[in-house]
Amino acid sequence: MLKVSEELCIGCGICADNCPFSAISIEDGLAVVGASCNLCGACVESCDVGALTLDVRGRKAQEDLAEWSGVSVFCEYRRGELASVSLELLGIGRKLADERGVKLSAILLGFETHETASLLIGHGADVVILVDHEALEKFRDDCYSAVFTYLVQQYRPEIVLAGATAIGRSFIPAVATALNTGLTADCTKLEIRDQDGVLLQTRPAFGGNIMATIVCESSRPQMATVRSKVMKALDFNAERKGEVIAVKPPADLLESRVRVFDSVVGEATKVNIQDADILVSGGRGLETAKGFELIRKLADTLGAKVSASRAVVDAGWIPYPHQVGQTGKTVAPKLYIACGISGAVQHVAGMQSAETIVAINRDEHATIFNVADYGLVGDLYEIIPKLIAKIEERRSL
Ligand SMILES: Cc1cc2nc3c(=O)[nH]c(=O)nc-3n(C[C@H](O)[C@H](O)[C@H](O)COP(=O)(O)OP(=O)(O)OC[C@H]3O[C@@H](n4cnc5c(N)ncnc54)[C@H](O)[C@@H]3O)c2cc1C
Repeated sequence: MLKVSEELCIGCGICADNCPFSAISIEDGLAVVGASCNLCGACVESCDVGALTLDVRGRKAQEDLAEWSGVSVFCEYRRGELASVSLELLGIGRKLADERGVKLSAILLGFETHETASLLIGHGADVVILVDHEALEKFRDDCYSAVFTYLVQQYRPEIVLAGATAIGRSFIPAVATALNTGLTADCTKLEIRDQDGVLLQTRPAFGGNIMATIVCESSRPQMATVRSKVMKALDFNAERKGEVIAVKPPADLLESRVRVFDSVVGEATKVNIQDADILVSGGRGLETAKGFELIRKLADTLGAKVSASRAVVDAGWIPYPHQVGQTGKTVAPKLYIACGISGAVQHVAGMQSAETIVAINRDEHATIFNVADYGLVGDLYEIIPKLIAKIEERRSL
């Protein structure tokens, strides 16, 4: 809680100016804290007269921390398919669980999930906690969060991971709130702190210019979401053995206030650049929207998909589902060809895990070359037609 001392406050307004959330106003010569305050403490540091204090002790540390054990991964199953991020999370979950010497459980919610539990075990889970119920066939926030919260309360894992997918983003914050714990979204690195086993959750902050490592020391579970293609799935091992626990949650948790009349696959889902083996990506160096004709030609020649930087999405040259980067998709194709892209940190954050990166840029100092395996310095309108011709020539041999 942020407290204002009526004796010390002189109503100078410096705190209001320094509040990044515009949560402070000056009323009758006194600082007044509004509901948008997120306890960041910027005002406390800025106050020269010491009139502001931040009291975070009001939130008592949970007393049963030691009773929480294990790593759990939310496994997303929809329309008969498991979201690939679930297997990637089992990959990092396995590593964290081994370091902690605890079990890795997959929490699978859905309907008619068939052999999915075996798939999860083959990819690293020790235990699959399964709720297979008609009520979970279509995603509904209230139902999913109630059931998932119930399972976490029952099994008490110390770490809970979920994909930063549309579904994960939609209901996982409600779970964290119900459990009165923290949640770090869009983590790019997860590690265990040696001295006390706390989860170190690293994610880009301040527009991607710094990496922030966040810890949740005083409450359990420690919750994090991770985007697709950030972590690596383990290879499937048919020999792995595990336990499947079918759970029947209380019936009222499966009730929903939402009725789904129809569900259609949106355009954004149809353009799935995350599953492509090869991506040809265009940036502002194309100079006009028409430049994407050349990008598409190269993509067709290679059997690739087309992606883009945010600059060209913002310019309306190509729709948002094609955007790679911090505010777009994270991709990890076998080959990523960046054409006329400068290599801003927010773009690189979304493609640096590609196996091979080729950059075409006329500026030899462009930062994209720092992450590229192969760099072609020159005008993309000269280089790409030559590349296409060379590939076609090779194909015809
Ligand atoms: C909070 C935040 C989030 C962001 N999220 C994203 C994101 O998700 N994804 C993203 O991409 N960006 C993101 N950005 C924007 C990012 O900072 C850059 O502005 C953007 O990536 C630049 O796009 P670009 O490389 O296409 O354009 P530019 O930076 O303008 O680069 C164009 C490049 O093309 C080269 N070039 C020009 N003409 C030619 C030619 N004829 N042949 C060859 N090369 C040529 C130039 O040398 C230059 O290097 C974000 C920014 C912020 C602040």
